[in-house]
Amino acid sequence: MTTLSTTLAKRLEDPRLFRQYAYVNGKWTHGEGGREEAVYDPATNEAIGHIPLLEAEQITAAVDAAEAAFVHWRALRADERCERLLAWYDLIQANREDLATIMTLEQGKPLPDARGEVEYGASFVRWFAEEGKRTYGETIPSHIPNASLGTIKEPVGIAAMITPWNFPLAMITRKAAAALAAGCPVIVKPANETPFSALALAELAERAGIPEGIFNVVLGEPAEVSKILCSEPRIRALSFTGSTRVGRLLIEQSANTVKRLSLELGGNAPFIVGPDMDPKEAAYAAVAAKFQTAGQDCLAANRILVHESIHDEFVAQFTERMAALTVGNGLHGEVDLGPLIHRQAVEKAAAIVDDAISQGATMIAGDQSQAPGDNFFMPVLLTGVTPQMKVWREENFAPVAGITAYSSDDEVIEMANDTEYGLAAYIYTHDIRRIWKLMRALEYGMVSVNSVKMTGPPVPFGGVKQSGLGREGGATGIDEYLETKYYCLGAL
Ligand code: NAD
Repeated sequence: MTTLSTTLAKRLEDPRLFRQYAYVNGKWTHGEGGREEAVYDPATNEAIGHIPLLEAEQITAAVDAAEAAFVHWRALRADERCERLLAWYDLIQANREDLATIMTLEQGKPLPDARGEVEYGASFVRWFAEEGKRTYGETIPSHIPNASLGTIKEPVGIAAMITPWNFPLAMITRKAAAALAAGCPVIVKPANETPFSALALAELAERAGIPEGIFNVVLGEPAEVSKILCSEPRIRALSFTGSTRVGRLLIEQSANTVKRLSLELGGNAPFIVGPDMDPKEAAYAAVAAKFQTAGQDCLAANRILVHESIHDEFVAQFTERMAALTVGNGLHGEVDLGPLIHRQAVEKAAAIVDDAISQGATMIAGDQSQAPGDNFFMPVLLTGVTPQMKVWREENFAPVAGITAYSSDDEVIEMANDTEYGLAAYIYTHDIRRIWKLMRALEYGMVSVNSVKMTGPPVPFGGVKQSGLGREGGATGIDEYLETKYYCLGAL
């Protein structure tokens, strides 16, 4: 196994957070078949480390370990599990700087954003630590003579989690903290592009006293690992965040073992600007909603729909704001946008822009000759976007903003819903009747009015249509990992 890269070695206060092994049953594990894969800093294309690709028997060993550990973990009192999770939360916070550095190196996002993600990710651990104490059952008025009826909540069993590279830490804690608080052991398969955040979380989970076998991180060839996880009958829940394409595959692969599925899939968020809005205020908000994480965000404003009466002024303000965005290595200074995750993402973004221009869109800004490296993509603004274009139909997952003018509320509702996705939508207007009408008519799991920020531990995160199944966070997030057992106590 390779040694710690010099870049990382110099930067981490605690180098033990950088692990190049899988973590199974409380042990750092290498691949028994000797296969490994390099992980690259997307800003420089420098290899920052290697991960082992586990063999099938090693994945099954993680399930064996989780099964054995489940007996003790579920038997703990909720407040005992809460204490371990709070210890984990404290350690994540205490190591925020190192976790942010690891994240920026493997994912590319600017350091301040990475620090923000660590905070955000940690906040779910604290939330679910407490929620675990509130998994109440209910008493049901009996329809059966002399019987007492009710429900109790029980952990669903071993939960597997497959997570993406765009939020390498928070997408794990948002799932794992809920599962652990509910009493379930966890097997995480992070994205191969960003495994080191997951492994650092495992190191901190161990230090927090989360017992062996309860939090496992398996690494491997994604399709191989997911087939094993999906077909393994002892895994009772599968939580996935990633593309709709892979989500569909996992539904198919889980059919034979009838798993509980939570799927947080792609988005294609409309950002609707009403005619009453100040174009500058709305344009600044749209820039923030589009370019966060260089557009690699399932909540990114993918289609910006602006009332025709303020369209031109909105475009002018958007262009001006966008021109102020800086693009560069996330480790250096206060850049706004880091690189895309890899070269293929840059090529996909360029193809989406070319497709739009070939179908009549106008490119207002986005000179790629200014890009500071192979994996960088300068922010692009397209106007005159129409529903036939890829930039409308697909989640571009890049800093490519597309603007379309509309003329009425009914028209914009139809436009906004014209997609297979239904994750998040934004509305910018101060007209209360318009807010209510749009909010009710939009086929989305989350609607944010006059606010770019919408997510966090107390609220349910998730989509409708082909954006997924289930909700993470909020009062119901823990239910994804709980079964309801009904009891009927007759003739007591
Ligand atoms: P992806 O679907 O390619 O990968 C996600 C995970 O699936 C990774 O762990 C990957 O290794 C694994 N994977 C890839 N191919 C697989 C296969 N054939 N079989 C099994 N597993 C496989 O997605 P991504 O590119 O990592 O992330 C981007 C996508 O994630 C976007 O569509 C984005 O909208 C979505 N996303 C959704 C949310 C949400 O909460 N709804 C949050 C973040 C990202």
